[in-house]
Amino acid sequence: MALIVQKYGGTSVGSVERIAAVAQRVKDWRDRGNDLVVVVSAMSGETDRLIGLAKAIQPRPSPRELDVLLATGEQVTIALLSMALEHIGCPARSYTGGQVHILTDSAHNKARIRDIDGARMRADLEAGRVVVVAGFQGVDEHGNITTLGRGGSDTSAVAVAAALKADECQIYTDVDGVYTTDPRIEPRARKLDRITFEEMLEMASLGSKVLQIRSVEFAGKYKVPLRVLSSFQEGAGTLITFEEESVEQAVISGIAFNRDEAKLTALGVPDQPGVAQKILGPISDANIEVDMIIQNIAADEATTDFTFTVHRNDYARALEILRGTCDGLGARQVTGDDRIVKISLVGVGMRSHAGIAAKMFGALAREGINIRMISTSEIKISVVVDEKYLELGVRALHDAFELDQAR
Ligand code: ADP
Ligand code: ASP
Ligand code: MG
Repeated sequence: MALIVQKYGGTSVGSVERIAAVAQRVKDWRDRGNDLVVVVSAMSGETDRLIGLAKAIQPRPSPRELDVLLATGEQVTIALLSMALEHIGCPARSYTGGQVHILTDSAHNKARIRDIDGARMRADLEAGRVVVVAGFQGVDEHGNITTLGRGGSDTSAVAVAAALKADECQIYTDVDGVYTTDPRIEPRARKLDRITFEEMLEMASLGSKVLQIRSVEFAGKYKVPLRVLSSFQEGAGTLITFEEESVEQAVISGIAFNRDEAKLTALGVPDQPGVAQKILGPISDANIEVDMIIQNIAADEATTDFTFTVHRNDYARALEILRGTCDGLGARQVTGDDRIVKISLVGVGMRSHAGIAAKMFGALAREGINIRMISTSEIKISVVVDEKYLELGVRALHDAFELDQAR
């Protein structure tokens, strides 16, 4: 007998028929003698719909009130799933995040989970009930409803699994596992049976939305066995492993991409100590996260060009701030581009292989794709390219590194 935490995403609970199918799957697992805690997302499209309503009233909705609104999406699903379970003779109880004490900090719209009190869930499990928990939401120390950022139900599930010391956390979604890249972009993408935790963390942080990055961080911290599977077909899915040795190491495991990028450049800023701080200080004071940074040596040696990337949602604000800063610094010009994307190669095997970057750049060059920025680490290489090259770039790299072929 095992304790399993299952999470079903928006598409998997997108209609009453699908909710009924989820209930049947949950019941089957329980009938086989397992204890089940089920974390669910809002029905597909619902979170977007609610955000649309809020923005129709206030262009920048109050973060606190937005959380009150968004949390309703998941509340609908927990109730419907519990009803569907009861309907087929499976005792169940639904709970909002607050009711099972998913305690978070107070950063509305992107709250972090601090603690979960498992007592209530354990009592239900002992009484033979399936526990159904609303994903994506929690409550802060003052009792305010919070949400965990888009895709946050993954994190709720892993955090609940960690709190209850579950035997496995299963993320059911609309693909049957983690692929070498998003199968919607490259139909030849190959499903991975296993991926190391480190690679999954990198893929998620570089834009693979199959798992929210915080869920992977949580799984790593608490060593939660994590699996991604399909709610529409049977199969073992993809296991996120913690032992690197057990995995046959491909040089490249996958390709991630991120469409949410924008870049800003200050041209002709004085090449003096402290300038980088002067440019980025006001950006970070505005709570805008900076990702890649490049500083060039200008030809005249007295000035330099400074480029950095931010989330596309922060682009307009960042541009305004940078213009203000650069007026004071006497920079020649400020430019920006929010039609860029970041494409990244990820693989722990890269550590022991030279020439990966050259091969990557060669493959992009053959397609006539100009690279605007580059950044590397031990297990990844990222490039920024024009948005229009996203599909072409991903497919060219998938092909060049033969990711469609089994390891
Ligand atoms: P859910 O609503 O179940 O949380 P998401 O849409 O958040 O589902 O995540 C699943 C989607 O992630 C897939 O439909 C797929 O398009 C996308 N995706 C991106 N990168 C990958 C990848 N490497 N492997 C599998 N799916 C990926
Ligand atoms: N419903 C939320 C969203 O759409 C959380 C989730 O689905 O994980 O982002
Ligand atoms: Mg998701």
